[in-house]
Amino acid sequence: MSLRATSIATTLAEVFGYAEFRPHQAEIIEHVIAGTDAFVLMPTGGGKSLCYQIPALHRSGVTVVVSPLIALMKDQVDALRANGVAAAVLNSSLSAGESRAVLGDLRAGALDLLYVAPERLVLDGFLGELARVEIALFAIDEAHCVSQWGHDFRPEYVRLSVLRERFAHVPVVALTATADEQTRADVLHQLGLGKARVFATGFDRPNIHYSAAYKTKPAEQLIEFLRDYRGASGIVYALSRKRVEQVAERLRDAGFSAAAYHAGMDAAERTRVQEEFLGDRLDIVVATVAFGMGIDKPDVRFVVHYDMPKSIEGYYQETGRAGRDGLPARALMLWSMQDVVTARGFIEAGANEEQRRIESHKLSAMIAFAEALSCRRGALLGYFGEELASGCGCCDVCDTPPETYDATVHAQQALSAVYRLGERFGLGYVVDVVRGAGIERIVANGHDRLSVYGIGAGHSRDEWTSILRQLIHRGYLRVDVAEYSTLKLAGRAGSVLRGEETVVLARPPAPRKKTPAEKPAAKGARAARSLETEEQVALFERLRELRREIAAEQQVPAYVVFADAALADMARRAPRTREDFLAVSGVGAAKLERYGEAFLAAIAGE
Ligand code: ADP
Ligand code: ZN
Repeated sequence: MSLRATSIATTLAEVFGYAEFRPHQAEIIEHVIAGTDAFVLMPTGGGKSLCYQIPALHRSGVTVVVSPLIALMKDQVDALRANGVAAAVLNSSLSAGESRAVLGDLRAGALDLLYVAPERLVLDGFLGELARVEIALFAIDEAHCVSQWGHDFRPEYVRLSVLRERFAHVPVVALTATADEQTRADVLHQLGLGKARVFATGFDRPNIHYSAAYKTKPAEQLIEFLRDYRGASGIVYALSRKRVEQVAERLRDAGFSAAAYHAGMDAAERTRVQEEFLGDRLDIVVATVAFGMGIDKPDVRFVVHYDMPKSIEGYYQETGRAGRDGLPARALMLWSMQDVVTARGFIEAGANEEQRRIESHKLSAMIAFAEALSCRRGALLGYFGEELASGCGCCDVCDTPPETYDATVHAQQALSAVYRLGERFGLGYVVDVVRGAGIERIVANGHDRLSVYGIGAGHSRDEWTSILRQLIHRGYLRVDVAEYSTLKLAGRAGSVLRGEETVVLARPPAPRKKTPAEKPAAKGARAARSLETEEQVALFERLRELRREIAAEQQVPAYVVFADAALADMARRAPRTREDFLAVSGVGAAKLERYGEAFLAAIAGE
């Protein structure tokens, strides 16, 4: 429909209420407006949507957006309408009457953007419909779904190649957040985008702080972490349904607003949880991986993994749901040796040899990430083939780099204990022997007479556990899952025992002192919003309450009204006039009209 004569920067400000483009957005948008095909590879939260939404307003005709998730389409359309854009959705959730109305608007040229499900788009009748109207652009969101190499393959996406064939003159932009080399090549091939400009903006999410902690008392560790985030939105992932329910209950007992979400719950209940989360009436969702594909909430402040995920790809995608609004967010992973053993057990139970090899490789990478002794972001990006020149300054390892030391003697002691014990005992037992614990089982086995008994008595149980764990992850020891998790020598253990190899390990962390409650309170949710004074914090909370009411009344997700970033900016500026209100980031002309009055009144304290 509309063909804006202004600059794209003006559109960004007037329609979307943003002062500046994110990296690469302007370049991509200009190319797309010029009519070139484009393939956009941008991390989650990078701002992919604007890369076709702004071109939609600057090219004549309707932009057709293909998206695999019905729930997401509706939210996007609601958000666009709130900004005064003529957008509509066409999918199986509409009644016949509603569909007819949308088709009517399409024929009348009244739409800027039309979101459709892929199965609908490729229907002959619908393609015929499209052939009769002017099309500005095709945007294919989640484009990796077209590839069998990717992890979300959707057969109906393959048929999208028909767009290139039947609408040769209409530019196509394909977008995704996850694509390795192979998937990328496949997407370009499948969609007939051989000539597309490729825009790859890298995997780094600088606003996410990554950390990992070894599980000691996981529920308490989680609650301790969440203390900084009272009232903020977040997701906690756990591997099993049972655990999901337990953790959710534990959090509720501790006074948090939390609910469980997993595939075993009925669909209506799952929808309810999702809607409450989107509507800001529920802070924390504790979920299996089933939760997230359809979640496009920009103000998720933290993602916690209560169990170690199986691969870095999955971990990256799940943590990527934090901080899409660009404000500081945190990713915490809790993990344990038991997690590793369980995961190995699953892998080894698999039938296919090749599959086992791949999964086992992926798990090793995950462990290496968990055990990282240098910058954790470096380990993450390294997995995707991206190098980080130096420490990132925004991860737990950079915050407090571990001290390393020459642990060759410790390693020799531990490895020879495993050897002397005939490689028939587990980690805990080995630790007891090395420390010379006079427990009954050791004495009964006669292991108190071994030369290695008590060889490391000067160090604590935690220290020895850490040493052995590190030796496992470095490949000097292996846990034999098939045989009661006994430890076996592996890799270059022999060279270490013969004194041919030096082993450098991280010094086991000293027992942590409890952090005083007032210190973290200054960080977390409040710092993420950059609120400095008590008044700002109080105002933010009032505005949030107002947003919640409006969102509930209009039955849209809270961020469709305003994102957290916009509310925070509002709380800092405390605008009194319409003009000042327009200066708030995230406020465009349409939102000024729609919400200005209510929010100005709340700010004035009426
Ligand atoms: P993606 O699809 O890449 O995951 P989105 O397009 O959903 O990301 O954008 C993530 C968030 O960032 C949204 O809340 C969006 O409004 C916001 N955003 C996008 N571009 C900008 C910008 N230039 N300035 C401020 N916020 C932006
Ligand atoms: Zn770092």
